[in-house]
Amino acid sequence: MKPIPMVDLAAGHARLEPRLSQVVAEVLADTRYILGPNVKALEEELADWLGVRHAIGCASGTDALHLALRAAGLGPGDEVITTPFTFIATAEAIAYVGAVPVFVDIDPQTFNIDPAQVAAAITERTRAILPVHLFGQPADMAALTALAEQHELKIIEDCAQSFGASIDGQQTGSFGLAGAFSFFPSKNLGAAGDGGLITTHDDQLAADILMLRNHGRRVDGYQHEVIGYNSRLDELQAAILRVKLEQVAAFNEERRAVAAAYRLLLQDADLVLPHEDGPGNSPGNSNSRHVYHQFTVLLKDRAQRSRIQEVLVGQGIASAIYYPTPLHQQPAFAGAQVPHVLGHSEDAARRCLSLPIFPGMNEAQIERVANALKAAL
Ligand SMILES: *Cc1c(COP(=O)(O)O)cnc(C)c1O
Repeated sequence: MKPIPMVDLAAGHARLEPRLSQVVAEVLADTRYILGPNVKALEEELADWLGVRHAIGCASGTDALHLALRAAGLGPGDEVITTPFTFIATAEAIAYVGAVPVFVDIDPQTFNIDPAQVAAAITERTRAILPVHLFGQPADMAALTALAEQHELKIIEDCAQSFGASIDGQQTGSFGLAGAFSFFPSKNLGAAGDGGLITTHDDQLAADILMLRNHGRRVDGYQHEVIGYNSRLDELQAAILRVKLEQVAAFNEERRAVAAAYRLLLQDADLVLPHEDGPGNSPGNSNSRHVYHQFTVLLKDRAQRSRIQEVLVGQGIASAIYYPTPLHQQPAFAGAQVPHVLGHSEDAARRCLSLPIFPGMNEAQIERVANALKAAL
């Protein structure tokens, strides 16, 4: 039987041909390769789609976080409260500007940063909160926004996994001072290479980010106000992303359908299904929309997880551990601040297993994964 990968990018691309090849050929012939018309058009389309005043392309999701934090004025001595249960880029960006990542625990159900833990970690040096909408599920923005207002903190949202996720119809990336998106190929809106995006409602922040991404110049030419970066979104990627943007809502809907099918097939299995917010469901947001970048279950322990992964591999079924080591236990963050015990993050790291999920995953594939998993349990 054909192997089932975590994500089938080829299937996704095939559905968008010949349009993708067409736009690539157009850019090649046009030759405006750097900050050309597609970058500009995509930025306008994305600002509109996401409901923000400004959307600014850059070279990666990591750069999007970095540029947002730097433009927000964060620097040495400032503390930024974030989650340890995320990809390392979230905290790398804090370190890049010289600020201090302060790791607090997650809510064990949503895997997102726990607002009560954030509140308990605020000191006089705290300047910002950096929530991650992990696996495509929005963080509790109502509680975080209330805290930020009360303590005059900035919020930078890590939306790398949450393109299209929303709370009461409002898109992630439009709640805080800025949002940072990634167009890494496997993300919900993925390019054919690296790319990123910063969103904001703030005109001054947007102007500063435009300057920072292009060597610290405000206009074309050789007047450099600050030491910036070469972090532009590539024109070819922008052209590809414009085609994919037309389909991303439908593709997210397909991800949600796969998740619903898994839920039904696994309802009696001896594991913890991912929490999905809904009316009356606490914790979190009663009306938030999960876009299932990942479908992540919790197993009993590490030993059971390795055994199950081996069984799945034997049947050609991929699975993945996002993330095996919380950031406060990474050698790279050995000196980071950890105000409290991060038990839920450590527990999730030991027990989490992400199953294959992608637009176009068919019923037979979903059943094969669910049945193999149930049998292995
Ligand atoms: C992918 C990802 C990033 C980084 O994005 P890149 O485009 O790969 O630099 C940051 N944060 C999270 C949570 C991610 O999943």
